[in-house]
Amino acid sequence: MAPRAPLVSFGLEPLPSSRNPNSSPAPKLYDSHDDPPQKPWHHYLPLCGTVLLILAPHPSLLYVLVTYHLQTLQTPFRFATHLLATYTLTFGAFSSLIVCVARDPGPVTETPQSEGDEVGLTEALMPDIDFDNPGGWCRKCWAPKPERTHHCSTCGRCVLKMDHHCPWLGSKCIGHRTYPAFLHFLCSVTLLAIYIAIISASGLWYAFNNPYNMNDYTPIHELILVFTGIIFTFVIGSFFLYHVYLVSTNQTTLENISPFFLLKHLPPLPRTGHTLSDPPLEPELSGPQRRLVKDAHGAMHLYDVGWRNNWAQVFGTQRKFGWLVRLWCGGASPGDGKRFPRNPRAEEMLAKLATELVKIDRNE
Ligand SMILES: [Zn+2]
Ligand SMILES: [Zn+2]
Repeated sequence: MAPRAPLVSFGLEPLPSSRNPNSSPAPKLYDSHDDPPQKPWHHYLPLCGTVLLILAPHPSLLYVLVTYHLQTLQTPFRFATHLLATYTLTFGAFSSLIVCVARDPGPVTETPQSEGDEVGLTEALMPDIDFDNPGGWCRKCWAPKPERTHHCSTCGRCVLKMDHHCPWLGSKCIGHRTYPAFLHFLCSVTLLAIYIAIISASGLWYAFNNPYNMNDYTPIHELILVFTGIIFTFVIGSFFLYHVYLVSTNQTTLENISPFFLLKHLPPLPRTGHTLSDPPLEPELSGPQRRLVKDAHGAMHLYDVGWRNNWAQVFGTQRKFGWLVRLWCGGASPGDGKRFPRNPRAEEMLAKLATELVKIDRNE
């Protein structure tokens, strides 16, 4: 049976290099020429900021819970409930943060089937990759580039179903294997911010109505918590809602912000009668042609197969409590991250887009 990659890896694996004669054959294609560049230390500063921002409200929160709920209201049950809820959400935020930082977001090639296997040219050129597709081969990694894979220039490698490169999570990419954890992280932080804002606002309201029942410092802590809770709810919450929209329509952030990725999926253009490359390149498109591509991108999403299937592609809802396993163990989205079913209307739309682009080119 083939050895399986660990779910979470905390260390950098030694990457064999073709320049070192003592090293074993390269198990991964992207590192067969050059190791991915080591990131400088300052790339990890935003991650420290993320951790500090999650921890920052807790001293004030504990102070408010003790002085308001326990001492003033004398409701230990409410105190325990709020304590449990806030620390469960904090645990959710940290567990998913660790998965996003420690886990490989989506290696393009797997470890060879057995030890000592040489990765020959035939094996390297995986037969399921369409090499006629200009996106099917990464010229920087010199390796196959499956559908929806992108090359991250900061990480210096390709990432399966790359969503975006996130400086706040250890300067790492969010990809096929870390996207569920990333959504958990956004959800936990948003819920934590909402929860803290609500319980602090209720304490603040009580302090206004009963100024002599509370000490002088509690309302100040409550005011700070309400203020920061509202800011985080809007900032992280809007980001979370944006990703709910992306999952529902089966788009990655990169696909959503760059409509011209559709060009490489167009069917072959007629050989003559136009000046476009096949497939067309973004810089050679005129204004009306660019508008046409943007309209097509807005009208139909290439991988949208219905919201239920779209969510199942990320969270694998077929398995009972599968989301719970992913939260604890950091599992990836289901599937190998290399093949994705397309919208049933995609071929028709792409053929129409190709025809329209050629028509505009002939008339210009
Ligand atoms: Zn690459
Ligand atoms: Zn990256």
